[in-house]
Amino acid sequence: MKIFNKIYINGEFVTPHGTETLDLFRPTTGEKMAVVTLADEVDAQNAIAAAKTALKTFSQTSKEERIAYLWKLHEVFKRRQKDLEEMMMDEYGCPRYFTELLVGGAVADFKNMAELLVDYDLEPTVGHSKVRLEPVGVVGVIIPWNSTTGFIATKVSSAIAAGCTCVIKASEYSAGQNELIAECFHEAGLPKGVVNFVLGKGAVVGNELTRHPDVAKITFTGSTGVGKTIAKNGADTMKRITLELGGKAPNIILDDADFATAIPQALFACYINSGQACVAATRLLVPKNRLPEVNELLKQTLATAVKVGKPQDADTTVGPMVNKAHWNTVQNYIRIGLEEDKAELLGGGLGKPDHLPAEFANGTFVKPTIFTHVDNKMRIAQEEIFGPVLCVIGYDDDADAIRIANDTPYGLGAYITGKDRSRINHLANQIKSGRVCINGAFHDELAPFGGFKQSGYGREFGVYGLDAYLEVKAIIG
Ligand code: NAD
Repeated sequence: MKIFNKIYINGEFVTPHGTETLDLFRPTTGEKMAVVTLADEVDAQNAIAAAKTALKTFSQTSKEERIAYLWKLHEVFKRRQKDLEEMMMDEYGCPRYFTELLVGGAVADFKNMAELLVDYDLEPTVGHSKVRLEPVGVVGVIIPWNSTTGFIATKVSSAIAAGCTCVIKASEYSAGQNELIAECFHEAGLPKGVVNFVLGKGAVVGNELTRHPDVAKITFTGSTGVGKTIAKNGADTMKRITLELGGKAPNIILDDADFATAIPQALFACYINSGQACVAATRLLVPKNRLPEVNELLKQTLATAVKVGKPQDADTTVGPMVNKAHWNTVQNYIRIGLEEDKAELLGGGLGKPDHLPAEFANGTFVKPTIFTHVDNKMRIAQEEIFGPVLCVIGYDDDADAIRIANDTPYGLGAYITGKDRSRINHLANQIKSGRVCINGAFHDELAPFGGFKQSGYGREFGVYGLDAYLEVKAIIG
């Protein structure tokens, strides 16, 4: 069993002032795997003070110095990539194929930002004026548990490129990954106080970050409910706020698509990260008259190609839920789906999967589940479940598909598969979401990422991501 009882402030691993502890349980087996000592408000205040002091000099560093730090971070994260992956699979239960994708993306984030900064003009001329893009200040980074390394790399690479300093509050359920990532930053030799890690509860450490007058910006990834609280808390000190929130992504399969490949692909697009993904394609929209064929293909795929099991195995597609509380949430939604009027259970359902190895009996595995003939008004189609639960919804024509796709409070990811590119483009233009991925495309490390509607505001990655960490000053005359 591991003990996590250090936080990272001003370049040193120190004992937190907070004394409350939290037990962590391995998601695959349910056994106790770690005890975490949680930081408190005093720790958050100390970290903010360190970041504020470091900002004085770090905000004045040249672009070249910051590029050098980003390359150093890229080198260290690349060297520790395997350790980060092993920790993510063990602590969180993310299947290997997806862990490698996420951690690989995190390693690339530092390189991408270093390359982008070379040609990014921090002093453009606009009209007759000089515009200076200045670091926004101390940044509070608050993130969930489903891609700890990825979120930190995306946000902090932009912050460093801009000349900002950071206080990071990861999820309490990512204590091991948090410690490893802090070690990587320490190894990279950044000036003291530029990056600080304070692991504690959202209502304690997170709350302090969102209210403290010396924090200029909050970058948050997490649920829409907590995002709203953060936006309210930050208003008094007029913080700049980026919110990456929940999603309920539509996946439109057009009638000219090759269903034999598109439908299995659609199931995996829902089950990415074991369904614990904001961009998971959880609403599959298919032509109504093709529902019988779609249902058959989904059943076959579920029976033959979806493997629930050990995250470390290369062929595992769905791992456990992050913890028991979240397992209960997913079970509750499956129960709601079963009770809702019209929806028909095509596969999966309540309880743990059959034929799991005995060692996983106490793990937090759920049955990958498919509901078909779902009405988009149902709760399982409207609310974010954050587990491997697919809703199949029939549509009449293209206009109906768009109506259903946009009939959601969210607007983060969307997917379209078909052959006629001009038809696809026409549909993509009408979808209200931050990303529309075509024909199986999934991610672009330089394209902006973020939400419409209640999926949040602000963008991450590439130029748009960097913009969010800069204040704009016009020097006129
Ligand atoms: P959550 O909102 O419960 O927690 C996220 C973080 O916020 C945690 O670190 C938590 O401790 C902290 N927090 C909680 N209350 C707080 C408060 N009052 N003030 C400040 N911080 C507080 O989310 P979760 O359950 O950990 O993660 C799942 C959610 O994250 C899902 O809704 C998912 O869609 C969302 N998510 C969004 C994206 C995206 O990029 N849009 C990516 C991944 C996950």
